[in-house]
Amino acid sequence: MRIDDLPIRDELRGQSPYGAPQLDVSVQLNTNENPYSLPEPLVARIAERVAEAARHLNRYPDRDAVELRTELAAYLTRTTGFERSREQVWAANGSNEILQQLLQTFGGTGRSALGFEPSYSMHALISRGTGTSWISGPRNDDFTVDLDAALAAIAEHRPNVLFICSPNNPTGTAVAADTVLALYEAAQAARPSLVIVDEAYVEFSHRASLLPLLEGRPNLVVSRTMSKAFGAAGLRLGYLAADAAVVDAVQLVRLPYHLSAVTQATALACLEFTDTLLGYVQQLKAERDRVVDALRELGFEVTDSDANFIQFGRFADSHAAWQAILDRGVLVRDNGVPGWLRVTAGTPAENDAFLDAVRTVRMSPTPTLAGARPARAASQEL
Ligand SMILES: *Cc1c(COP(=O)(O)O)cnc(C)c1O
Repeated sequence: MRIDDLPIRDELRGQSPYGAPQLDVSVQLNTNENPYSLPEPLVARIAERVAEAARHLNRYPDRDAVELRTELAAYLTRTTGFERSREQVWAANGSNEILQQLLQTFGGTGRSALGFEPSYSMHALISRGTGTSWISGPRNDDFTVDLDAALAAIAEHRPNVLFICSPNNPTGTAVAADTVLALYEAAQAARPSLVIVDEAYVEFSHRASLLPLLEGRPNLVVSRTMSKAFGAAGLRLGYLAADAAVVDAVQLVRLPYHLSAVTQATALACLEFTDTLLGYVQQLKAERDRVVDALRELGFEVTDSDANFIQFGRFADSHAAWQAILDRGVLVRDNGVPGWLRVTAGTPAENDAFLDAVRTVRMSPTPTLAGARPARAASQEL
């Protein structure tokens, strides 16, 4: 029996699931995880808070995650200087669930979502999964948002949901606040629509958070995650900041008790260690900048990065280059952006291993670097 023989929804036929290769390689720099495991005192604190939660597991968890949302709001207020209260914050199992709840509320059958690609492939996948038709918007050759083309696409398609990923995955490109404002205004002029700014990597950015743009813009949402900066991808905790009415709206689609008591307790323990965890972020930013400089010195083109990963190229055949780097024991990501690969900033030792690997690829006479051959068509997930 094949999937397509099942009576599945038409828009799912022929689609591929999200899937970065999970290969057993010693240096894994392909999924933008934080390379630092949680510090032992935090592990002990998680055990303590989870034990306390375990005493009440016969009961459903706090459906509204009040304590957690209060602490997330305090984190946002403290790190951006823009005051948020718990009524303006909502949490879910990863920012992917946040995005799904938003699409279930503001997208759906007969509605559309637009994003500027290449970008995070889950924006399109979650849109399709909620019956929302997906519109692929353009970018400039340097991967910044092509504002004129973007405004034209918004006017033409009048999407119900607009995605702005800043810093953008897989390119690392941040979007300037005035560009976001222009896109928001254009989207509202076309029809009242939800604008989602995905700030999964904002803690790694040279630029400030776009959070203050929420002031006076009830149709704007900023989504965040503890998967990257907090080094807690395994926790599955994402959140949004928006007008309190948006938080009320997603209550219409969220599953009751969606966020387990264990998840809430663990996330609260992590938030107690915010300063320690943000210290790792500083180290990773310095490592990212070191790898950018080293790659440029080796003669690679590197897209300016505001994230914990780097897009580099150009390759005549990026898949062959991906394989050549893998053959040297380092797993990076081929996102299917013709000519480019993406590497996550790891520990200093991992980054050195990566730089050694690309140095030999650069020196090798194999035809992997940009040259006469056309690049492979896009196919893989971001
Ligand atoms: C990694 C990533 C996320 C995080 O998803 P979680 O579900 O919170 O782990 C969200 N958006 C983008 C652009 C990402 O790259």
